[in-house]
Amino acid sequence: MRKHLVLVGGGHAHMVTLANLRVFIEKGHKVTVIAPSPYHYYSGMGPGMLGRIYTPDDIRFSTQHVVKKQGGTFVLGKAVQVDPKGKKLILESGETVPYDVLSFNVGSYVPENRIMGTARDVFTVKPIEKLIDAQKRILELASRKKITIGIVGGGPSAAEIAGNAWRLTQDYGKNKPRVRIFAGKDFMSRFPVNVKKKISRSLKRRGIEIRESEYVEKIKTNEIILESGESYDTDVIFLAVGVKPSPIFKESDLPIGPDGGLLVNQYLQSTEYPEIFGGGDCIYFKNQPLDKVGVYAVRENSVLYQNLMASLEGRALQPFDPGGDYLLIFNMGDGTGVLRKKWLISDGKLAFKIKDYIDRRFMNKFQQIEKK
Ligand SMILES: Cc1cc2nc3c(=O)[nH]c(=O)nc-3n(C[C@H](O)[C@H](O)[C@H](O)COP(=O)(O)OP(=O)(O)OC[C@H]3O[C@@H](n4cnc5c(N)ncnc54)[C@H](O)[C@@H]3O)c2cc1C
Repeated sequence: MRKHLVLVGGGHAHMVTLANLRVFIEKGHKVTVIAPSPYHYYSGMGPGMLGRIYTPDDIRFSTQHVVKKQGGTFVLGKAVQVDPKGKKLILESGETVPYDVLSFNVGSYVPENRIMGTARDVFTVKPIEKLIDAQKRILELASRKKITIGIVGGGPSAAEIAGNAWRLTQDYGKNKPRVRIFAGKDFMSRFPVNVKKKISRSLKRRGIEIRESEYVEKIKTNEIILESGESYDTDVIFLAVGVKPSPIFKESDLPIGPDGGLLVNQYLQSTEYPEIFGGGDCIYFKNQPLDKVGVYAVRENSVLYQNLMASLEGRALQPFDPGGDYLLIFNMGDGTGVLRKKWLISDGKLAFKIKDYIDRRFMNKFQQIEKK
C-alpha cells in the first residue's frame, strides 16, 4: 500500500536517504521533504567558508533539486510542531502535512538569550548560512575602518571562527581587525590540555586575544557586556556558545531527553511513537548520550535509511551502533589544523590537509547525487 514518508530537514543524517529517494518512490511510496532552505550547508566547512578557503557552493548540497529530480515533493518551510496521535506535522505557515512515517534531522540552534532586543551585526554560528552574511558585513566594515570582531563562546567553533575571521581580513593592512574571544572561565575546557595549548598558541601567535576570566552577560549592538559590568565596544559579534536541539519536540509533547532532543531507542526511533525517527543533533540517543558533532549524524545515515524503509514495509529494524572514538580536526584558518584522535594530538599543515581532504571528499560524494 502506498505510504507517505515525510523527512523534516535535509541535514547530515538524511544524506543517504535523500540520495535514495527514488528507491522509496519506485516501491510506490510518496516522499515529502520539508526544509527552510533549498540547500543544506555542511558545517564542518563553515568556518573555512567564512575565511574564504571555500565558496558557499563548495559546501552546500542542493536538497530541493535532489528531491524534485527523484520524484519527491519539496516544501520550502519550517516545521514547528507534531501531532503524534493525529500523525500530522504542523508548519510555520499553518499548513499541516499528514504522514505514515516521519523522520527528523532538524539539527540544533544557538540560544540567543544573551542578545538584548534586536541587536545588529550579531551572528550566531548556526545556521551556517549566517556566516555568509557575517563575511559580507566584516568585509564591508573593514574596507572603511579598523574594526573589532568579538566571538562569544569558548569551544571549538569559537576557535575556528576566530581563526577564520582573522584569515578573512589579512589583506586589510593597517586596518586589520582586532579579534577577541570571550571564552567564559575556561577556553576549550572539554578537551585535553594539549589540544587547548596548541589551539591557544595558534590563535595568540596571530594576535587573537582570548579572555578567560568571566562569562558574557549581555550582547547589544556593537557592545559585549561581561558579568562584572565591564563592557567592550565590538563591531561584529559572533555567538558560539554551544547548541541545543531544535525545540519542536518539547512543543509537541513527544518524549525528550534531558537536553530537549527527541528521545530515541537503539533503532533511532521515538521511544513512544514507532513511526517517528530521527538523527543528528536533534536526537537524544537513550542508550548513550552522543556529542553534538556531525560525525554521529554521518554514522547514523545508513541505519536511518534502512529503518525508514523497513518501517514503511513492515520489516525488522536495525540497531544503531555509535562506534568508538572519532577523529576531530580543527581548521585554524592559517592553513594549519589541530588534530585529536584518542591519545594522538598533532598540529600543523598536514592536519589541515587531512581535514580538507576528508571534508571535500564528503561533499563531493553528495554533490555527485545532484548530477546523476
Ligand atoms: C561552526 C561549526 C563548525 C563545526 N565543525 C564540525 C566539524 O568539523 N566536525 C563535526 O563533526 N562537527 C562539527 N560541528 C558540529 C556539527 O555542526 C553538527 O553536529 C552537525 O551540523 C549536526 O548535523 P545535523 O544534520 O543534525 O544538523 P544541521 O547540520 O544543523 O542540519 C539541520 C537541517 O535541518 C534544517 N532545519 C532546521 N530546522 C528545521 C525545521 N524547523 N523544519 C525543517 N527543517 C529544519 C536546517 O535547514 C538544516 O538543513 C560544527 C558546528 C559548528 C557550529
